[in-house]
Amino acid sequence: MEEPTGRLTPKKVAVVGGGLVGALNACYFAKRGFDVEVFETREDIRQAKVVKGRSINLALSHRGRQALKHVGMEDKIVSQGIPMHARMIHSPSGKQSPIPYGKKGQFILSVDRANLNKELLTEAETYPNMKMNFDHKLKDWSPETGLMTFTRLDGSHDQIQADLIVGCDGAFSTIRKQFLRRSRFNYSQTYIPHGYMELTMPPVNGEFAMKPDYLHIWPRNTFMMIALPNLDKTFTCTLFMPFDEFEKITTGDEVMEFFQEYFADTIPLIGVDALKRDYFRLPGLAMVSIKCSPYHIGDKCVLMGDAAHAVVPFYGQGMNAGFEDCIVFDEIMEQLNEDFSAVLPEYTRVRVPDDHAIADLAMYNYIEMRAHVNSKWFLFRKHLDNFLHFLLPNTIVPLYTMVTFTRTRYHKAVDRWQWQDKVINRGLLFGATGAVLGGSYLLIKNPPDINKLIIPTEKMWARLMSLWTN
Ligand code: FAD
Repeated sequence: MEEPTGRLTPKKVAVVGGGLVGALNACYFAKRGFDVEVFETREDIRQAKVVKGRSINLALSHRGRQALKHVGMEDKIVSQGIPMHARMIHSPSGKQSPIPYGKKGQFILSVDRANLNKELLTEAETYPNMKMNFDHKLKDWSPETGLMTFTRLDGSHDQIQADLIVGCDGAFSTIRKQFLRRSRFNYSQTYIPHGYMELTMPPVNGEFAMKPDYLHIWPRNTFMMIALPNLDKTFTCTLFMPFDEFEKITTGDEVMEFFQEYFADTIPLIGVDALKRDYFRLPGLAMVSIKCSPYHIGDKCVLMGDAAHAVVPFYGQGMNAGFEDCIVFDEIMEQLNEDFSAVLPEYTRVRVPDDHAIADLAMYNYIEMRAHVNSKWFLFRKHLDNFLHFLLPNTIVPLYTMVTFTRTRYHKAVDRWQWQDKVINRGLLFGATGAVLGGSYLLIKNPPDINKLIIPTEKMWARLMSLWTN
């Protein structure tokens, strides 16, 4: 832990939500020397027997790693993750084909969500100017005074005031409710028709049941399953499917028929009994995409992480974007001397276009992952893009590389991708037109001997006749 910077009368920053983004953000504010308090509705997950939450594991990539690095956490978290160098596509017949994520040596990491959250809370607590408040559920707050009211499991209430309130309370943010009451606050939310369900693939003879250094994908056009490795040698398989398809399957035998048809290679690995049981353990869970703007109210409150931008999980960027929010805010704090009245509007100005861009990209990848990867044209373009990137590394950079392995601003990555796509498609069109024109020119210049063309046809005809008569 680094020493916080000195300050005569430290301002009080309240971080509401001690999830992934809240816990990391608390470190950022504590590192700057603010008097920080975190308020989290759940009990301390480090003491809890069962940690409720969303996906068991997540893909950590460059943006998230950079944000962890800033508070000295990168190496620790990376050492607890499993590198995934490529997607491994499973065809319905069970054939497996890898599609690398980037250049040799580039990978994303499968990390355990609960463990990451615990590590971040423990790191936050190492700052002397930090106070953690678990079992504190925000009920209401005032944007005018910064006064917050929390309820506790024993029915008691706590009232706390802060100079700055940082809303990291997730997709269904209570902090955001005050924003919704205000004029000129834009807000949209979209539930996709798909839900998700997690299934566990246990180890086989103490080893991973499939190759661990891949993110396994079973793309089936309208639905798909993915699997990420865990440190205990299990895989967490996540089935993404429209809710009405989930609901059509009502018995164990129907689960087996469904898996036999679409994911036959996973049946012996997950196990028949486990499949029949676990499919009905929990219903499919919903996924929502939320966009809003602005992210701040005056100099009092700012939204970050899913509270500001919940994205569907298909680009593996929700947490990474939330972590990057912390770096961007910190960079602006540095530029504007921690003057909240200037920092907050600037943060909205800078960050909204990027978070909206990643929300759109995640929606785009929702189709790419389950359907496009089955298309030959898509695979050809992926290989071509990677080849062009190899030849012209500074001119052509695949979109996935920009999003996952760089800190190129998300909206700039989208602009550049559209430009590159136009250039490559035009290049292909010119190439194809050139080939057709060149071929035609050669044919006109050197017309083939028409008799030579007829001879084999006659031969073939004779052969066909003989087959018929015999
Ligand atoms: P959350 O993790 O939701 O944390 C919010 C916290 O606030 C919680 O601890 C909650 O208890 C607390 N809270 C809520 N309300 C209150 C209140 N009123 N008072 C006090 N505390 C409160 N992202 C990736 O980058 N890579 C991935 O591979 C990836 N995979 C995903 C897979 C799935 C299936 C899903 C659903 C999401 C995935 N994500 C992934 C997205 C990622 O989970 C989120 O972006 C990330 O959890 C956001 O962190 P957060 O701290 O903003 O919100």
